[in-house]
Amino acid sequence: AGAASISKPTLNGRQPNGDAAKEPSSERVQIIDDEKRFTAELTPQLTRWGLQDAGFDYDIVAVFGSQSTGKSTLLNRLFGTNFDVMDEAKRQQTTKGIWMCRGKGMNVMVMDVEGTDGRERGEDQDFERKSALFSLASSEVLIVNLWEHQVGLYQGANMGLLKTVFEVNLHLFGKKTADGRNQRTLLLFVIRDHIGTTPLENLQTTLTADMQKIWESLSKPPELKDRQLSDYFDLSFSALPHKVLATDKFESEILNLRKRFVDKSRDDYVFKPAYHKRIPADGVAFYMEGIWEQVQNNKDLDLPTQQELLAQFRCDEIAAAALSEFNEQAKPQRRPIETGKVVDGLGGMMKGWRSGTLARYDRDASRYHQGVYKRKRADLVKVLDSTLEPLFVGQLKNLHKLNLGGFKKALSDGMKGESYNFADVVKAAKARCEKKFLEAAQEALVEDTDWSYDEEYGLLKEEMKSVADQCRKDETKKMVNLIERNFKRQISEPVEVHLNKPSLDMWDNVLTVFRDTLEKAESAYLNKAQSPLSPLTYVYVPSNLIFVAGFNCTEEENTTSLATLRKRAWLALRAKVDEQTGELSFLGKLRTHFEERFRYDEQGVPRVWKPEDDIDSAFKKAKDHTLELIPLYSKIAPVDSSLEYTLPSDADDSLASDNTEEFDFAETLIVFSETKSLDLGNRFRKDADAYYVEAKRSTVASVAQ
Ligand code: GDP
Ligand code: MG
Repeated sequence: AGAASISKPTLNGRQPNGDAAKEPSSERVQIIDDEKRFTAELTPQLTRWGLQDAGFDYDIVAVFGSQSTGKSTLLNRLFGTNFDVMDEAKRQQTTKGIWMCRGKGMNVMVMDVEGTDGRERGEDQDFERKSALFSLASSEVLIVNLWEHQVGLYQGANMGLLKTVFEVNLHLFGKKTADGRNQRTLLLFVIRDHIGTTPLENLQTTLTADMQKIWESLSKPPELKDRQLSDYFDLSFSALPHKVLATDKFESEILNLRKRFVDKSRDDYVFKPAYHKRIPADGVAFYMEGIWEQVQNNKDLDLPTQQELLAQFRCDEIAAAALSEFNEQAKPQRRPIETGKVVDGLGGMMKGWRSGTLARYDRDASRYHQGVYKRKRADLVKVLDSTLEPLFVGQLKNLHKLNLGGFKKALSDGMKGESYNFADVVKAAKARCEKKFLEAAQEALVEDTDWSYDEEYGLLKEEMKSVADQCRKDETKKMVNLIERNFKRQISEPVEVHLNKPSLDMWDNVLTVFRDTLEKAESAYLNKAQSPLSPLTYVYVPSNLIFVAGFNCTEEENTTSLATLRKRAWLALRAKVDEQTGELSFLGKLRTHFEERFRYDEQGVPRVWKPEDDIDSAFKKAKDHTLELIPLYSKIAPVDSSLEYTLPSDADDSLASDNTEEFDFAETLIVFSETKSLDLGNRFRKDADAYYVEAKRSTVASVAQ
């Protein structure tokens, strides 16, 4: 349907609901139906009228008066609304209830009451009273509509109703709010069919007096017994000529009256701020429903309480709406964080969602009861932060992981080259990773929270340190291994030479080689382990491995590394000794030694035994001399006691664990046990005996020739 098909409501005509409903601004809503139920449609209707976001920028007006006194006609003229007007030809009853329209081109909610005239028909005074009470309690301006001839009829017409309404109103809503403003209402008397013979001033005096009388006759709650009519109401008056008998004047006076609702600059502008109920437009429906409930149940609640209830309800609703938008925004980031991703710009996003949500809440909720608004805001902040904090914490964990990984990689990259300074590599990697962590952690921080990244930062630093320590240990271990290998190579030949030259100072020579080589190995270690600032410390190593690392080792590490080195060096020496003193090779040594003395003379010339030769004593001498070698070799014992070696006991197992077991140093000094020595001696004797027999035979042979 195009705009052309919309029929505009006319000011005086009866406007069928159906047609008018096509244009939202001229839609009507029956807020209370004939079953006395409050509609659920008011909030959506306010939205369709475009008033939902009006805040306090709206007004409410209602009308009070007998049936068929032209109330609907008046409202339609004043506000351009389309309330039902009784059809003169049919005089039919319209639907009972309270209707609301939006004033045309005005932020005004206009309420019209339809109903039977209870006094005349003797029925349903209840509805009449309740709707009057509701109109009075919820509107800023209540138009009291009456015929001129009703003025002064104190007992008649609706004065009795007004009394009841005032009374109940005082009981239900009479207590003032803290600022004492919310219950002030303007009663605008509109006198209809004013003929003019009695001036308005006179009618006004009569009506004011009547109102005073009504007020004085009210039964008031004890705590409100001194309250005056003027504490709650302002009175204002207006008269309109006869609609039919003075049509032109009627129309022009109505236009004049309309100005009092439209022109804010006028002194007699009716919608004064003092009358405003200070309920934001988006809370009006809930507020009115609450009032209707109270009117229905006559529950003794007062408006301030009502306003707090409203605030609680609305602030909750507003917070929930803001929160659901917030959750929509936050949700997509949850998974990446949970799966270990560092989300770039997370902090900025979180701050944006948070401040956006609070801004939305503030915009709509700040108009409500301040205490409630602030309390609910604090609740909302808590919920927001408890949603955001896991993201923050997750982000930190992921940053931690990422940067620890980065640190490890930087270490291994830094140690790839042929020459690097370990301490420098660690320092640079550490600085870079810490900086990256801190920058991102700082970014993820949200103001006004008690969040902190200190703990995670501390953990990261600790872990980087232990990674670096482990790495240094590994490197140190490699270095110790390398030095050990060199050591072995270096002692191999000289030790072999010395062990093949049995002499009293044989062990002195061996241990001197050992001591000197170990000293060199130790200084090679210390050169690198202790000098982070002296790169290019060449170690006497195979050419393909040149250590130049500065390890910056600790005192303790050096102590254990050196202890390990010494232990390994000693075991290497022992291995060499064992190799040189294996049973067969040692027996060979003895045999050679014996032969050199028995079969050769002092000049090294081979002996040819003659019968007169003293084979026996030569044999004995050579044998005894040789047998002396066994005790010499059986224990590592230098003549010079300063060469005696003792092994420190605190070698680090983590460095030593690969191939060295705990051992008893004293035992390692023993090369041959007692039994072994005896056994070797016996076996040697047998060999020697064989030589002796051979020597004897050779003399027999030479004699026989
Ligand atoms: P309501 O029941 O108070 O809402 O009255 P309506 O607005 O429906 O009007 C009832 C009847 O009174 C209709 O026939 C109107 O044409 C007529 N009417 C409206 N305004 C006036 C007026 O100012 N004077 C007179 N005499 N009749 C009026
Ligand atoms: Mg009417």
